[in-house]
Amino acid sequence: MFRAIQLEQNADKTTAAVLKDLDDSALPAFEARGVTVDVAYSTVNFKDGLAITGRSPVVRKWPMVPGIDFAGTVSASDDPAWQPGDAVVLNGWGVGESHWGGLAQKARVLGDWLVRLPAGLSPFEAMAIGTAGYTAMLCVLALERQGVKAGDGEILVTGASGGVGSVAVSLLHRLGHRVVASTGKADEAAYLQGLGAAEVIDRAALSAPGKPLQKERWAGVVDTVGSHTLANACASTRYGGVVTACGLAQGMDLPVTVAPFILRGVSLIGIDSVMAPRAQREAAWARLASDLDRVALQRIAQTIGLAEALEAAPRILAGGVRGRLVVDVN
Ligand code: NDP
Repeated sequence: MFRAIQLEQNADKTTAAVLKDLDDSALPAFEARGVTVDVAYSTVNFKDGLAITGRSPVVRKWPMVPGIDFAGTVSASDDPAWQPGDAVVLNGWGVGESHWGGLAQKARVLGDWLVRLPAGLSPFEAMAIGTAGYTAMLCVLALERQGVKAGDGEILVTGASGGVGSVAVSLLHRLGHRVVASTGKADEAAYLQGLGAAEVIDRAALSAPGKPLQKERWAGVVDTVGSHTLANACASTRYGGVVTACGLAQGMDLPVTVAPFILRGVSLIGIDSVMAPRAQREAAWARLASDLDRVALQRIAQTIGLAEALEAAPRILAGGVRGRLVVDVN
């Protein structure tokens, strides 16, 4: 038997999210290369909040065990690539949406979806990073691929006190950038400065409709918010600067004009963590293991139990969570 959060459905929406004891035989079957993992830690990401509350149609199959990421140890494997005892991490691939996810003591997934836990990173640290932190690293790698270097100018991080934002602030500071953190939580200024933000700005300055072109300021942007915030970030990015877009905490709309792109050569780079190819995942996890400040990571993470993940779901959607919620499923 193992303990899991299970989502039940009526008319395409989550109607119940309950803690249940399930039999091992309930774990999903795979025709080939299925791997069973004893989960050590999972997390509550923004998308888990959507799944658990039913606020958006994130869940594709019912009943569903939510949890878009987990870290743990392989206990049984039909995939020659994985042996019992291997330490693994998983992000995305529709896990927690169309396949049973990590908010459970056991998971059975396709071997191809697993990444080996980088040496020196504990399962707890991997989930303190989680999908949010791994997405922050995908944004940083995209900025680097587009040629943004330390010393080029200020980097704006929006939704800075959230999971993606907190890790992005810490990573970019460690890499030598001057980071400007945008937040709606004035009382988290000291937290963000502690992670390395050189300046903390009120997100109200970015979240209302703005002019198509504004004073040039940012050499790069990590945007987790979308909507007017992303539009204003593009409008105030310097000539040749790079904006990475990964989130929609403010909204899915993008009320932007072409002006920043055709007059300032600004690049807008989309970031997807769910279907990112294995090489990109491994590169991101390797860089997280080597570049992320572990002391800062302890400040970013709070640990909760499985039952507490249920009440955390509406809180993360309301923007009320600081940093990362790590779920100790045992
Ligand atoms: P969090 O909830 O931890 O952080 C989001 C932050 O956005 C909040 O803490 C808040 O920060 C800010 N925010 C919330 N509501 C609003 C609003 N109405 N207007 C402006 N800012 C707001 O979520 P995550 O960090 O886990 O995820 C951030 C976003 O990235 C989400 O939209 C998520 O779906 C997306 N995401 C996308 C991925 C991908 O593959 N592309 C992967 C992972 C996440 P503050 O109070 O500091 O302003």
